[in-house]
Amino acid sequence: MMSLYLLPVMEVLTAVWRNMSFLLQCMKMLSSWCWMEVSGTRKVSSPKIIAPQDPGRVKPISVNYHFTRQCNYKCGFCFHTAKTSFVLPIEEAKKGLAMLKDAGMEKINFSGGEPFLQERGNFVGELVKFCKKELKLPSVSIVSNGSLITEKWFKSYGEYLDILAVSCDSFHEEVNKLIGRGQGRKNHVEKLMKIRQWCCDYNVAFKINSVINSYNVHEDMRDEITMISPIRWKVFQCLIIDGENSGEEALRQAEKFVISDDDFKGFLDRHKDIKCLVPESNQQMRDSYLILDEYMRFLDCRNGRKDPSRSILDVGVENAIMFSGFDERMFFKRGGKYVWSKADLKLDW
Ligand code: SF4
Repeated sequence: MMSLYLLPVMEVLTAVWRNMSFLLQCMKMLSSWCWMEVSGTRKVSSPKIIAPQDPGRVKPISVNYHFTRQCNYKCGFCFHTAKTSFVLPIEEAKKGLAMLKDAGMEKINFSGGEPFLQERGNFVGELVKFCKKELKLPSVSIVSNGSLITEKWFKSYGEYLDILAVSCDSFHEEVNKLIGRGQGRKNHVEKLMKIRQWCCDYNVAFKINSVINSYNVHEDMRDEITMISPIRWKVFQCLIIDGENSGEEALRQAEKFVISDDDFKGFLDRHKDIKCLVPESNQQMRDSYLILDEYMRFLDCRNGRKDPSRSILDVGVENAIMFSGFDERMFFKRGGKYVWSKADLKLDW
């Protein structure tokens, strides 16, 4: 009889304890930041304590790890610019990736900057191999501008890679040059075609990413995309991020590249018959990616800029993810979960 009365009391106490431990976690993060601020040991910018998400609710199913900000291209709208040259030592990066796997990660995407710049592609190659061979992740992918990729890289690491996405905003070389997608005399479109062939030879799914901006918004890409036939063509609306490509501290000023929602819709309408096209508006882009920066901090883009959490290496995945701004509902709505393992893809070249 007594135990019947105790039951609701226990439930109330458990709920109080859950909230207390969350509050304590926040206080711990805040006090350690204050200590670093006072003692002058703070190396990276502080976490912004804004609307943390429900602890334990968000699972890092799909993560984008921008392990470097360095790049050999100079795209005028770039929204992940070379503000630091920091890259984690590879063993630290592997440790963080293993922590993410333990927290539920199924897909990792390596991005930059340009991922193939570090150690001539061997750094990203070793991470790809580790994620597939050791962590056994269902999907391992890279987004690259393509300029530094070689067939030798495919020979060494191709078998561990599920998807390679190459950025291409125009099939006219002069437009790519105007945008800043290029380096010296390298021909971006010619290289894209070479990589398409290597993906076919080494059984890697090939994807194209395009940023629609004021220079390419009126282009008709139907023939080229149909001929290349990527498994997915991601079409993004040029995005402004304060501190990255807009504002006083930014390394780029992308205002002249911005297009209206109507112009973006016009581009999508012209290409509506392309089956592999996956559009992404500014709103979808802002909240539906889990982005890790070069320090393995989640970046919260909800306020139109990138506010970093603490590093997962310091506070663990669960604590850091509360400040990621990730909208899981939007992730599923934009089709973030798709067939992403090459074992499940019918690569019919
Ligand atoms: S290739 Fe990508 S990372 Fe490099 S400048 Fe262009 S948008 Fe930025």
